[in-house]
Amino acid sequence: MSPLEVVQIEVGLLQNFCEVIGCPVTGEAALVDPAFEVDRLVAAATKRGWTVSTILLTHTHDDHIAGLDEAAQRTGAVVRCHPIEVETARQQAPDVRPVEDRENVLIGQGRLQALYTPGHMPGCICWYLPETGAVVTGDVLFVGSIGGVKYPQSDPSAMVDSLQRVLGSLPEETRVYPGHDYGKTPTSTLAWEFVHNPALQVDDADAFRKRYGR
Ligand SMILES: [Zn+2]
Ligand SMILES: [Zn+2]
Repeated sequence: MSPLEVVQIEVGLLQNFCEVIGCPVTGEAALVDPAFEVDRLVAAATKRGWTVSTILLTHTHDDHIAGLDEAAQRTGAVVRCHPIEVETARQQAPDVRPVEDRENVLIGQGRLQALYTPGHMPGCICWYLPETGAVVTGDVLFVGSIGGVKYPQSDPSAMVDSLQRVLGSLPEETRVYPGHDYGKTPTSTLAWEFVHNPALQVDDADAFRKRYGR
């Protein structure tokens, strides 16, 4: 497997980050969360000589899939997401396929591994790029904070597990690409987050629920 290249693009009015992720060897590429300004996302791929074959979703909150119908139509890409998000995604794109936990989605000569990370929503996925040393965290982890766990479907205990056990088991130098530009910097590393992010200091489920839950 060779490393994939990650291009981070801020779109829309909610400071959403989308990623265009390509294989520099074959030019095959994926879009993560085509939220808004699909023109800019497609142009970023085209400019690099990349062809988008796949759209990856971190979850199906509106601010992450507002541009999904347009992106799917323009690229003809297959959409990959958590099984419980498939139905929602199919309202916008014709070819949606569920991805298993730890499944590798191949892009050219590289891969993104689906990490199930419930908590913010039950169908949240972080997309891990082992050879690049990067993880796209959606609304699970932001730079210096985390996604909300006050939705009716949120689960604060699952969130602690996703943050501490799933993300906490990745190499600490892994670069974090969050779903929103809410931090001091557009990206960080897991090492930085585990020292500076207050939500990552609370590893006890009860304490976490008291502080962040409903
Ligand atoms: Zn969300
Ligand atoms: Zn969001």
